[in-house]
Amino acid sequence: MMGSVEIKLGRIFSEIYEEGPDGVPEFKTFIDGSWTRSSEGTTFDLRTPIDGSVIARVQRCNESDLERAVRAAKENQRKIRSLAAIDRIEIMEEVARIVKNHADDFAMTITLEMGRAISESPGEVRAVAERLRLAMEDSRKVSGEYIPGDWSPDTVGKVAIVLREPVGVVGAIGPFNYPLFIPSAKVIPAILGANSVAVKPSSSTPISMLMMARAFQLAGLPEGVLNVVTGPGYLGSLLAAHRDVGMVSFTGSTEVGREVARHGVGKMLHLELGGKAYAIVLDDADLKLSAAKCVEGAFRNAGQRCDAVSAVLVQESVADEFVEEVMKQVTEWRLGDPRDPSTKMGPLVNEQAAERVNGLVRDAVEKGSVLLHGGGRERAYHQPTVLDRVPESAKILWEETFGPVIPIVRVRDEEHALQIAERSRYGLDAAVFTNNFYRMWRVAKALRVGEVTVNDYPRHGVGFFPFGGVKDSGLGREGIGYSIEEMMVIKTIVFNLEPAGLGKVRRTRTS
Ligand code: NAP
Repeated sequence: MMGSVEIKLGRIFSEIYEEGPDGVPEFKTFIDGSWTRSSEGTTFDLRTPIDGSVIARVQRCNESDLERAVRAAKENQRKIRSLAAIDRIEIMEEVARIVKNHADDFAMTITLEMGRAISESPGEVRAVAERLRLAMEDSRKVSGEYIPGDWSPDTVGKVAIVLREPVGVVGAIGPFNYPLFIPSAKVIPAILGANSVAVKPSSSTPISMLMMARAFQLAGLPEGVLNVVTGPGYLGSLLAAHRDVGMVSFTGSTEVGREVARHGVGKMLHLELGGKAYAIVLDDADLKLSAAKCVEGAFRNAGQRCDAVSAVLVQESVADEFVEEVMKQVTEWRLGDPRDPSTKMGPLVNEQAAERVNGLVRDAVEKGSVLLHGGGRERAYHQPTVLDRVPESAKILWEETFGPVIPIVRVRDEEHALQIAERSRYGLDAAVFTNNFYRMWRVAKALRVGEVTVNDYPRHGVGFFPFGGVKDSGLGREGIGYSIEEMMVIKTIVFNLEPAGLGKVRRTRTS
């Protein structure tokens, strides 16, 4: 362990927190353009998974704070709506510059909040800067259509234009696993689409989003357009149910997503939920490549990725060779203090998460899986783990793992692999490894998921390719140019052109 864990941020962030009497920083939240305390003045402790110590205190907002945030968003939406798109784009460019200039602060905060290795956290910061720079691509999606009416008996003589208008207030709820990127990937398209936002970050990782709000403030975003509500989960449901919130964009577990959907009845909903990506390795695949990709796909971010490879279905005839290649790779994944640049894998988000993952590993071993590597955990640190010959009765084959485990199932053939994938309740991502063009198509078409990756592990990355789930993995698509569509309402304006003598006339029929 590298010594006590402390958050230290650059001068631009000095307005967003104050040092408490015990030296622990107390963060304010951002409502209506000001850094403020919760109305009851209460906070909650933020513990780092690195050593379990309290690294910050964060405002415990309540219903009246949420009310203030949504009211500010509603009242100030006209400010963002009145800005030309090019001005909104320029704000995004300025935020990108601020994020890049303070990339080390952002990356270290991610590492301290959730335990991700510092060798990986800068990637998330770069992705946010890139997402901001691609604002132009999003903005181009805000256009409309012209529909001539003269093909239908009902509409002869009329034309319509179809507009995409802002929904008003977007309620954004983010998970812990990409604490900077995921909430930002909701806030950016919402604002580009001239919406205002109330965002509730995960209470395990709220600071990254508070820092992002500061970047937006410094970039000149009009006051009240972006509001952050920190605090417990139920605030997410209150946000989803709020009468002034027109659209809810949620990323998190399937169970909480259902709760959000229940509260958000009648609103536009975008749900990015849990996943269980199966990687299918066929007997003609490049096994070295498949093994390298499966290991990286399973272990990056300690497996805490909705798109993580969380079970490998390998054809029996090549399974021994595949497992041998996997074992060559796994030793590189050194578990340790995530602040150490040589560490490849840090702790999970908290000790309960590590115990849940370990429970899945123990269940798999009890049911006959062969433990080839790892298998243990200490506090929040779960060892990178490889299980072979996992039986179909093991829970780990069906439940979202969200931890660094590669369960390997030996399957008879392509059909057998597809049957397993079909039984899954999830439908977010899958991967197929093969060098046969026709098998690749057959498997990719048969899988019921939102995205299939061929000869690589699934990764949503910056969202350049759209992603999202089917089955219990969600509703709607995220990505550049796609998220923004979900945050706009379509309005149709119909023109009767007959008074101008421009309406078409229907031909007279003889019979
Ligand atoms: P989570 O427990 O579902 O929490 C997600 C968010 O919902 C947090 O802000 C949480 O707040 C809030 N919340 C908790 N209870 C709530 C309630 N009753 N009503 C409304 N909101 C509530 O998820 P997580 O553990 O943070 O994240 C991991 C999950 O996210 C995994 O299942 C993963 O697959 C999924 N995910 C999906 C995608 C995708 O693209 N499909 C991407 C990333 C992650 P608190 O933190 O304050 O409890």
